Amino acid sequence: MMKNKPIPYGRQHITEEDIQVVIETLKSDYLTQGPRIEEFEEAFAEYTGSKYAVAVANGTAALHLCALALGVKEGDKVITTPITFAASANCVRYCGGEVVFADIDPETYLLDINSVRKLLSEAPKGTYSGIIPVDFAGRAINLEEYKELAKEYELWIIEDACHAPGGFFTDSQNEKQLCGNGKFADLAIFSFHPVKHIASGEGGMITTNDEVLYNKLLQLRTHGIVKNDDLYENSIEFAGGEDNYPGWYMEMQDLGYNYRITDFQAALGSSQLKRADKGLIRRREIAQKYFNEFQNGKFIKGQSGVVEGHAYHLYIIEVENRLGLYNYLRENKIFAQVHYIPCHLMPYYRSFGWKEGNFPKAENYYRHCISLPMFPTLTTEEQEFIISKVKSFYGE
Ligand SMILES: *Cc1c(COP(=O)(O)O)cnc(C)c1O
Repeated sequence: MMKNKPIPYGRQHITEEDIQVVIETLKSDYLTQGPRIEEFEEAFAEYTGSKYAVAVANGTAALHLCALALGVKEGDKVITTPITFAASANCVRYCGGEVVFADIDPETYLLDINSVRKLLSEAPKGTYSGIIPVDFAGRAINLEEYKELAKEYELWIIEDACHAPGGFFTDSQNEKQLCGNGKFADLAIFSFHPVKHIASGEGGMITTNDEVLYNKLLQLRTHGIVKNDDLYENSIEFAGGEDNYPGWYMEMQDLGYNYRITDFQAALGSSQLKRADKGLIRRREIAQKYFNEFQNGKFIKGQSGVVEGHAYHLYIIEVENRLGLYNYLRENKIFAQVHYIPCHLMPYYRSFGWKEGNFPKAENYYRHCISLPMFPTLTTEEQEFIISKVKSFYGE
């Protein structure tokens, strides 16, 4: 066995410059609620082409705030994909809503718009409140189509773009639509967990073009507190002022949370964001090489060619004897992963009545899928090692 370093499926890349900006921030006046946060938000809004961005503690907090801002409440039905990280669905449950899953498209692995359309058309109008499509693995979902459906059925859309900063799809006008640009979805969310494209330790971002939602998110991020003379509900007199509200005054107008990110995380995020496009180019190179090497392999079931606009958070193949391959790769210190165990079959969601057979395409995908190492600092040598091991396992 080769004495290689362990190769994870995803990994952060921290440069000397990243370290310096974090150190500088630690020496500054603000560890949190300081200027690095707005800088990160502005840079991120520009990167995604959205009007507004709100930085938060993590991607899950981002989803929760989105669900709150859209007013998800008990009994609201929201549609999402079973092939995603559980957080995409959980945010609905945090607000007491009901998660309704729909099957995937076995070619793209994304939420199948035809399954969603079927659900919508079979129920009286007004049954559903929203849809949470996921740019799974980094592949941008066609939100133009979803927006049309959303208009017809008066639904909101939260785009879970955790896997796809910098990804895009091409719309019917032949224009590139960046993930999270706010053109079709009401809100989009991102995560800066170290396995994602941009790492800030923990961290998340919400992007939107809607000013009302933007202000709501800012408020909910900090306890539901408002600090703006024009918006106060209590009187100046009550507040203890004379002609104006006194300097100390603020109001908690809604039940919010502390979902803030820190300044040193935001500084790290900004520094990482500067290299995001470079990382994307490298991810695409790695994808191309996997594709070229495997395309004639008899062991490969699912492997689309390199897709335009795909941000390649993950490189997924479908194989027979996935368990054998997984264990064999581990013996060689290659830590491939499986994304994801279908969410509707998690014991928590089974308790709502979801069961095997509900989504044959998602379940069949789960039986065969495996995510090979994919991150910008994966070396050519490492990738060749991975490729040779996959091929040798299948006797090729
Ligand atoms: C990572 C991830 C999340 C959650 O992000 P955290 O920052 O880990 O809370 C949500 N949805 C998807 C698709 C993710 O991959």
